[in-house]
Amino acid sequence: MSQTTLPLRKEIPVEETWKLESIFANVEEWEAALHEVETRLPELERYQGILGDSPQTLLDYTDNAEEITRLAMKVMVYSALGQSTDMGDPDAAARAGQGRALMAKLGAARAFEEPELMVISFEKLRQWMKEEPRLAIYNQYFDNLKRKAEHVRSADVEEVLAMAMEPMPPMQPFMPYSSLVNADLKFKPATSRDGTQMEVGQSSIDSLKSHPDREVRRTAFENYADAYLDFKNTIAGVQIMAFQRDVFNARSRRYATSLEASMNPSNIPIEVFHNLIEVFRRNLPTWHKYWRVRRKALKLEKLHVYDIKAPLTDTKVEVPFEQAVNWICEGMRPLGEEYVAVLKDGCTVNRWVDRARNKGKRQGAFSWGSYDTQPFIMMSYADDVFSLSTLAHELGHSMHSYYTRSSQPFVYGNYSLFVAEVASNFNQAMVRDYLFQTHTEPAFQMALIEEAMSNYHRYFFIMPTLARWELEMHERVEQGAPLNAKILTDRCAELFSEAYGEEVEYEQDCIGITWAQFSHMYMNYYVYQYATGISGAHALADRVLSGEAGAADKYLDFIKAGSSKYPLEALKMAGVDLTNPEPVEKAFGVLADIVDRLEGLVG
Ligand SMILES: [Zn+2]
Repeated sequence: MSQTTLPLRKEIPVEETWKLESIFANVEEWEAALHEVETRLPELERYQGILGDSPQTLLDYTDNAEEITRLAMKVMVYSALGQSTDMGDPDAAARAGQGRALMAKLGAARAFEEPELMVISFEKLRQWMKEEPRLAIYNQYFDNLKRKAEHVRSADVEEVLAMAMEPMPPMQPFMPYSSLVNADLKFKPATSRDGTQMEVGQSSIDSLKSHPDREVRRTAFENYADAYLDFKNTIAGVQIMAFQRDVFNARSRRYATSLEASMNPSNIPIEVFHNLIEVFRRNLPTWHKYWRVRRKALKLEKLHVYDIKAPLTDTKVEVPFEQAVNWICEGMRPLGEEYVAVLKDGCTVNRWVDRARNKGKRQGAFSWGSYDTQPFIMMSYADDVFSLSTLAHELGHSMHSYYTRSSQPFVYGNYSLFVAEVASNFNQAMVRDYLFQTHTEPAFQMALIEEAMSNYHRYFFIMPTLARWELEMHERVEQGAPLNAKILTDRCAELFSEAYGEEVEYEQDCIGITWAQFSHMYMNYYVYQYATGISGAHALADRVLSGEAGAADKYLDFIKAGSSKYPLEALKMAGVDLTNPEPVEKAFGVLADIVDRLEGLVG
C-alpha cells in the first residue's frame, strides 16, 4: 500500500491505536497538567543554594523535584506520542512543541542540583544517608554522581565549557547532515528489467534493496550510493567535525580517549568494545559461509552486495497481529505466567501498541513512555514475519520498562541503551527459537531465516564494521593524523572488504561510502551496543531455553533492576559477562546454526 492510499488517522479503528487516554483523559486535562508544572517550577528554585543545609532540606527538595518531574514527563510523553501518529496535524505539533519547551524549563530549574550536590561532598552525603534512612535509596545515584564529579573541572573551565555550548551545541554537526540527506539529496530512480522507473528515497530504499527484480536492486543500490558519493566532501566535512567534537569533549573532561569518554559514564570498561571487535573478526568466516549459501539459494553465479537482501522465496507468510501476539506469548512462556499475562494484556486490553498504518504516521518503530505511563509502542504493523519480529523486539523494551518501573523507585526507573538492547533482542531470540521449533514447513522456516539474517546483517555485521571504522577515525583525530573524504571512504571500503571476504562482489566506492549513510556516526560510539545487546541477549536466552535452574528468575531480576545497578553488574547478576568473549561467541553460534538451517533447506 503506498502512502497516498493509506487511510486518514481519524478513520483508524480504536483497537489499532494506543490508549493515550490512560495518560490524560483529554487535551483539557493535559493542558491543566502543563499549567500545574509551570506554576510549580518556582518551588524548586527556592532550594538553590540551600541543598547542603540539612538532610531534611535535601529530602524535601528531592520529593518536590520528583513530583514535578514525573508530571512534566507525562505531559511531554502525551504530546510527543500524539504527534508521532499524525505528523501533519498542526495542533498535535504545537502541543509537542509545548511539551519539549516544558522539559527545557524543568531542566533549567533543576540545573543547580548536580553541581550543588557535588559541593556537599560525598563523605557528608554518606553520613546523611546513615542519619536519614529515606535518603539511603540514593546510594547508587550518589555513587554515580561521584564518578561524574571526577571529570568536573574548575569553576572557570566549567563556565567556558557551558558558554561553548551555545555556538557549538553537541548535535551541531548532525544538523547540516540531516538536512542534506533528508531534504536536499536527490536520487536517480531505480529501473526494473522492463524499464519501469521507481523512486529512490530514504523511505523506499529498504524495500528496493529487497526487490525480487535484480535490476531494481542493482540500480537502487548504486543510485543511492552515488547520491552520497556526489556530496562526499561536504558530508566528510561535518563528519570530521563530529569526531573533533568527541575528542574535544573527551579531553576537556580529562578522559584518556573519546572511546573512554563514551563508555565511562555508564561505567563500562573499554575492553567490552575491543572484545566485541576481536570476536567479530575471528568469526567472519560464518558470514562468508552465509554469502556462499545465499548465492546458492538464489541460484546466482556471483553474489553482489545488492543481492544480500534479495528475497529467498516468493511465498509470503501472513501473520496477522493477533497471531503475532499469541506466538510471542508462546515464545516468552519460559519466563512464567505473570510475564506472559502482562505482555498479553499490554497488547490487547491495555492497548500499549499503536499498530495502525495511516497517513502522516512516523516511520520506524519504538517503545517509549515515562515512569507513570504505560510502556507504549509505535509501529506500522504489516502482517508479516518482519513485523512480528519488530513487535517482539519492542515488547522486549516495553516489558523491561514495565518491570523496572514497577520494581524501582523513580530515581532508578530508567535504564541505559547498553542494557536496553539486551532485553529487546532477548525477546526476538526467544520467539525465533520457539517458531523454528514449532513451524517446520519450509516456507515458514525460510521466512524466519530471511527475517533473522536481515536483522543480523544490519546489527551484527554492518554495525560492528562501522564501529571499527569509527574507532580508527577517532584515533586519527586523537593522533593529529590527516582526515578527509578519501581517507574516510577508502578505509571504510577496506574494512567492509575484509568483512565481505571473497564471496561478495562489490564496487569499492559503493561500499566505501556506507559510513555516510548512517546518522549513528554522529553519536560517539553508539552502534557497538547493538552487537553487544544481541550477544548478551543470546547468552541469556540460551540459559533460559536450556532449562538452567533459576535462569528465568535471574533474567526477571535483570529487567527489574533499572538503573539501580551499573549495566555490566546487572548483566552479571543475570549470568552474562560481556568483558569475556563467550557471549559474543555464543551469538555467532546461533548465527552459524541459522546458516546451517538455510543450507539444509537449499540442499
Ligand atoms: Zn531496540
